[in-house]
Amino acid sequence: MSEKVRPALYIVPTPIGNMDDMTFRAVRILKSVDIIACEDTRVTGKLLFYYKINTPMVSYHEYNESQKVDFLVNEIFRGKAVALVSDAGTPLISDPGFPLVRKCREERIDVIALPGASAFVTAISASGFPSHQFKFLGFVPNGRGRKKFLESLLEEDCTLIMYESPNRVKRFLKDLNKMKEDDFRICLARELTKKFEEYIIDTIENIQTKLNELTLKGEFVIIIDKNKK
Ligand code: SAM
Repeated sequence: MSEKVRPALYIVPTPIGNMDDMTFRAVRILKSVDIIACEDTRVTGKLLFYYKINTPMVSYHEYNESQKVDFLVNEIFRGKAVALVSDAGTPLISDPGFPLVRKCREERIDVIALPGASAFVTAISASGFPSHQFKFLGFVPNGRGRKKFLESLLEEDCTLIMYESPNRVKRFLKDLNKMKEDDFRICLARELTKKFEEYIIDTIENIQTKLNELTLKGEFVIIIDKNKK
């Protein structure tokens, strides 16, 4: 049995692929809280099984966030410690959690965030691109706002980081290539911390040529180096 922790909301990062990327503290907190709020109980269930954690889970995902916020806040008021995890990486980083944290802050409930895995931090640290100043932009918009988003990328001076799904990476590079005036380097960081981890670093056009032959699989972080080539 792990020692109980005080009632609060604990933000607990989980691995982005490699199951061993949990911190000792993250495991201890997940063992000690009363409830783990997670996106998909099957995904988090595998993590809990791996670390022999028996804490009950409740689902908390983008489609039930507004209903679950009040329930979880009430549980903390009743003296329970609640941990929030997402399927992978740090909660709230392109993942659910913002309404819950905001409500906890409004209600003066303690929010205790643990440091841990996040795909964009992992990717920038190994890219070799300037990392003293960067902008993380979350997912590339697919519908409305896409053109404006792409135009804004060209205006920025610092390193830019975003998430994209594998079936849209080629379209993203094609659209960006059409709009750009100067050439710049791109890093595609794929399947980080997993068996087929790969960094593809080149100009947009060279990457497009490389990717033409390939079916892209896995998860991607895209990084743009705005230093002109
Ligand atoms: N909360 C997560 C974090 O802290 O990075 C991000 C979750 S978001 C729903 C999922 C996206 O993160 C994926 O589509 C991909 O762009 C990126 N991602 C997650 N895991 C990754 C990995 N192992 N390698 C590369 N990109 C990854």
